[in-house]
Amino acid sequence: AKWVYAFGDGKAEGSADQRDLLGGKGANLAEMCNLGLPVPPGFTVTTEVCTYYYANQRSYPPELTSQVEHALEEVGRLTGRRFGDPERSLLVSVRSGARASMPGMMDTVLNLGLNDRTVEALAAESGDPRFAWDSYRRFIQMYCNVVLHLDHEVFEEILADEKGRLGYELDTEFTAEEWQHIVGLYKKRIEEELGEPFPQDPHLQLWGAIGAVFASWMNARAITYRTLHDIPASWGTAVNVQAMVFGNMGEDSATGVAFTRNPSTGEKKLYGEFLVNAQGEDVVAGIRTPQNITEAARLDAGSDQPSLEKLMPDAFSAFVEIAGRLESHYRDMQDLEFTIERGKLWMLQTRSGKRTTKAALRIAVEMADEGLISREEAVCRIDPASLDQLLHPTIDPSAARDIIGMGLPASPGAATGEIVFSSEDAEEAKAAGRAVILVRVETSPEDIHGMHAAEGILTTRGGMTSHAAVVARGMGKPCVSGAGTLRVDYRNGTMISMGRIFRKGDIITIDGSSGQVLAGTVAMQQPALSGSFSTLMEWADKARRMTVRANAETPADARTARSFGAEGIGLCRTEHMFFDDERILAMREMILAESADGRRKALAKLLPMQRADFAEIFEIMAGLPVTIRLLDPPLHEFLPKTEEEIAEVANAMGVEVALLRERTEALHEFNPMLGHRGCRLAVSYPEIAEMQARAIFEAAAQAAEKTGAPIVPEIMVPLVGIANELAFVKERVEAVAEEVLSESGQKIDYLIGTMIELPRAALNAGEIANAADFFSFGTNDLTQTTFGISRDDAAGFLDTYRQKGIIEKDPFVTLDRDGVGQLVRMASEAGRRTRGDLKLGICGEHGGDPASITFCEEVGLDYVSCSPFRVPIARLAAAQAAC
Ligand code: PEP
Ligand code: MG
Repeated sequence: AKWVYAFGDGKAEGSADQRDLLGGKGANLAEMCNLGLPVPPGFTVTTEVCTYYYANQRSYPPELTSQVEHALEEVGRLTGRRFGDPERSLLVSVRSGARASMPGMMDTVLNLGLNDRTVEALAAESGDPRFAWDSYRRFIQMYCNVVLHLDHEVFEEILADEKGRLGYELDTEFTAEEWQHIVGLYKKRIEEELGEPFPQDPHLQLWGAIGAVFASWMNARAITYRTLHDIPASWGTAVNVQAMVFGNMGEDSATGVAFTRNPSTGEKKLYGEFLVNAQGEDVVAGIRTPQNITEAARLDAGSDQPSLEKLMPDAFSAFVEIAGRLESHYRDMQDLEFTIERGKLWMLQTRSGKRTTKAALRIAVEMADEGLISREEAVCRIDPASLDQLLHPTIDPSAARDIIGMGLPASPGAATGEIVFSSEDAEEAKAAGRAVILVRVETSPEDIHGMHAAEGILTTRGGMTSHAAVVARGMGKPCVSGAGTLRVDYRNGTMISMGRIFRKGDIITIDGSSGQVLAGTVAMQQPALSGSFSTLMEWADKARRMTVRANAETPADARTARSFGAEGIGLCRTEHMFFDDERILAMREMILAESADGRRKALAKLLPMQRADFAEIFEIMAGLPVTIRLLDPPLHEFLPKTEEEIAEVANAMGVEVALLRERTEALHEFNPMLGHRGCRLAVSYPEIAEMQARAIFEAAAQAAEKTGAPIVPEIMVPLVGIANELAFVKERVEAVAEEVLSESGQKIDYLIGTMIELPRAALNAGEIANAADFFSFGTNDLTQTTFGISRDDAAGFLDTYRQKGIIEKDPFVTLDRDGVGQLVRMASEAGRRTRGDLKLGICGEHGGDPASITFCEEVGLDYVSCSPFRVPIARLAAAQAAC
């Protein structure tokens, strides 16, 4: 079998479409070679080797050794070198590269092949012994850390001692001889720590590094990242071995990263950073603050560090040309890594660049306008869930700002929270329900869990491509990076800004859109959705078949829903309207009354309030469909709980406290969610449904007159399981409709339908459809009743289920296709067999979940309904489902 794919010198054995086999990095290196771009030659050990490795007690396929040796020789031939040769030694980098990019998750080793002899050769060849010895000591550090799992600090200590001894401040002050001496100290210390000398044999080094990359696939960081991003462990990683090029060979060498468009705003401008005389990960690591690539960006940033454009104009123009080619070739914004070795440009990586949602929208729309992609592709390129990012609050421009620091606007949006200095503290505070800002000098992959727990991230070091910035953008969290005027002191737990001391627990606000750091809480504002967002949503709206409605019951929610493009209300939960002070009293009176008369008296108080609510919602929705659900929850939810409340209600009703307490106790249920709720209430107390129906029809008549729009209320009966239940309630509602309409003399069309939220209703849908104009799948209850799992108590153990692999996704978040989904499909088909024009929708939480929306499209539902803030997500997901 073939386990190794070579690339270099304008050709490659692999190509971009072999991501699964070669990993993202390997596939793109091959592709760049095929395009004839300057790529240091190398080879990729495939992901299948990783799979083999884990399936065979961490061993390799027998043919691998010879295939690697052969590929190494070929790289040597192309570079005029030989691996392990004491004179013309080939040095390589070893990097991981999974199918999906996992930034910072896996480990890299550079300068591999250096040892006590080849370092001399490198010194002679480069004419720069200092560079050679510095490279060697970097290699030892990296190799020990990544492959031999020796702590960084061992080396930091030695470096600090030597600096102290020589009176130096910076690493750059060490001479070649001093580095050589330090390498000696390193090696001595390694032998002490590990009981073995540092490996001198380059082949041994190489196999150690390859093994470390495969092993790192299962390290805790990688596992966490995969869990967060739904990446299966079975994918495995590839290993890329590539001839070294050196960005640290002097002042005419450099290394950098760039995006073909701005990853934060999407603006079509090459955007990137580089460091002169630096190696590999220095730019990303954020240790030195990097310089701008283009002169324009330098001017924008007001930096006095020269741009690459000025400093190395030839390499710059070669790079600009390649960046443009790669973008058109891949038809997407690219994230590029390059190195300039003594003036010669080398490409080390290209991949689709991570970007903020705002940038993703602008890039998709502009690329469609440029003709690079179609509008449909543009619509499909945006992850619907990511639209959430746009809904992040920003700082109110008129708010007073107490600015205490300024950094780079690394990830947009603003956030307020308590200062914490460690990821552990961030998690702890989050678990206790507090909002925090994670404040670090810089972040590393170890901080992922803390970044997740935090509302926002603030670092004092590092650029726009630092770990903190890249990861925060991916998470959609506000981030300010490189706020250099702030001084963070972990030991004392302080952050100092111009003499002001902030401690753990103090509140700050960060503005990831401007880079400002502010003291205290600051007024926030919801963003306006316009520009590329509206354009893309327009295209999405043209592409979708299903309509999108919102679950809303307050005028504010109805307005928000409309502003986000909702095309109606799919679920107005009337019970939410009964919770304010005045109403709950009347509601309690109604529930606790002992006769229908008593209930009618209390209901009469509620009628005008409900009518006003409905009229307002009808007016806001101006002729768009509005589905109003009759009272659903178990009545005990409204009951007085404390003695004080009981006394208050007794007083209002003019009854004895004791009597009332007795009545309250009588209403107690062991299993209220399976108890006296839903349409069962309307069967027991038809006057409740009648009052609600009256309120709805009167409001509709009123709103129709006021707006002139045709108002067609849709009345929805909850928790039906038996066709007769629906028939019973329907008859009452129709009677009220006739009454009201003959009183007002107006003609109002209306629909009466049912929720399908019990398995029996789904099984019996054919019959139920006889009395229904529409079905709306209440998948919250349908999931609860199908699984027999309480939706209110399940979060804890469902998470355990997920971790133990029993279930893949929380069925209350993503519709369970195999169980609940079957019921939905079956009920839809049976319902439509009874009534070809039966309207079908969904109003459980799943109506706003992209994967569930795809399923709804497959089943042929007419609409989805979700919470107002998810409406844009649903519009886009519905479009993608229809594409
Ligand atoms: C449902 O059960 O899916 C539903 C929408 O109703 P509720 O969440 O109010 O029970
Ligand atoms: Mg329900």
